[in-house]
Amino acid sequence: MRNDKAVASGVRIVSVLGATGSIGDSTMDLLRAAPERYQVEALTANNNVQGLATLAKEFGARFAAVADESLLGELRDALAGTGIACGAGESAIIEAAERPADWIMAAISGAAGLKPALAAVDRGTTIALANKECLVCAGDFFMARALNAGANILPADSEHNALFQALSSGNRHELTKVIITASGGPFRTWAAADIEQATLAQALKHPNWSMGQKITIDSASMMNKGLEVIEASYLFALSPDEIDVLVHPQSIIHGMVEFSDRSVVAQLGAPDMRIPIAHCLGWPDRIVGRAATLDLAKIGQLTFEAPDFVRFPGLRLAYDALRTGQGATTVYNAANEIAVAAFIAQQIRFGAIARLVEDTLNAWIRAGNLAPLSSADDAIAVDHNARKMAATLLPQIAAKAS
Ligand code: NAD
Ligand code: MG
Repeated sequence: MRNDKAVASGVRIVSVLGATGSIGDSTMDLLRAAPERYQVEALTANNNVQGLATLAKEFGARFAAVADESLLGELRDALAGTGIACGAGESAIIEAAERPADWIMAAISGAAGLKPALAAVDRGTTIALANKECLVCAGDFFMARALNAGANILPADSEHNALFQALSSGNRHELTKVIITASGGPFRTWAAADIEQATLAQALKHPNWSMGQKITIDSASMMNKGLEVIEASYLFALSPDEIDVLVHPQSIIHGMVEFSDRSVVAQLGAPDMRIPIAHCLGWPDRIVGRAATLDLAKIGQLTFEAPDFVRFPGLRLAYDALRTGQGATTVYNAANEIAVAAFIAQQIRFGAIARLVEDTLNAWIRAGNLAPLSSADDAIAVDHNARKMAATLLPQIAAKAS
């Protein structure tokens, strides 16, 4: 059913790219709690047509887009008689991002989210950015384009949202470092030999967060934290030396900023993505949240450990890639996406994920491909070529025992 609340004053027009995913779900939960405040313009999904159609009908969206072109007929049938326009394929996802909205959640997973997020950026709107791969893949360029277009990039990733909140306590020249926390994932206490052989089911058992499959595996390898170090660097224009990672198994403190007077400002909250998303949705004001209130007396203890760069080489590789430059972080992400897909398909062991990323990075550097990226097309080309290179290296990584 179409809904024309947008005519009422104070109503925000919002779109959610990746509405059927884990972040999409948390976002829709917040929108559902205050229907009088939001008009949904566009919703997108990869191939979950029924989930997308159900949401589009519930929220009275104006447009629904599915990435898989072969599913257009199914989506049309599911929306028949509702007046909701629909489309399929990458162009339809981009159209969803281009439609007029005051606030867009960018929550497509992987580098596939880059072009739609850039389309939203070019509209100069406010973007809650969950899709960290956009920044890892095309960081400098992405942020420059946002600046040009006057787009507000609000970090929805919990650690970066925490930093965003803490950074307002001081000025840039007073900052000495930022600290992003990591739960350490399901293998935090495991020996390297056991991590090497970990199964998919074991990698998918995150101790604190409930998330999509790719990011859950990235959390187990700590590649997610590597992606987040890179994300923080581009988002806040920080050098690798200004970004520390701290393992904090309870996931209550999400990020901290240390200033020159040695004050450390932290943001705390339950491990529930509705907290950073609510911050983005309300910004620059605060809205009423949906997560549980934080009960520190019940939690009792907050503990901390230094990260282990040997058992979790993915984290070390992220710093290496960041020091090498933008093309290398694009390669880091691309090779990791290929490696995770191969691990899910049981073609490689868990421990081989980082090896494939390292070998791809080394091959990339050896080939002399280190020119800086100057456009989104450059980033997309590097991403494409790095995937091909990783796929070429895959059989020998799969064959090699650790
Ligand atoms: P998910 O797999 O649960 O959902 C991904 C969404 O993107 C789905 O709606 C899916 O249909 C859509 N999608 C996937 N591939 C697509 C494609 N090729 N074209 C168009 N749409 C596509 O993932 P998620 O956990 O919600 O994560 C989304 C993004 O947010 C990722 O970049 C992730 O790193 C980031 N993030 C997630 C969390 C979390 O708690 N889940 C936390 C921080 C950041
Ligand atoms: Mg995070």
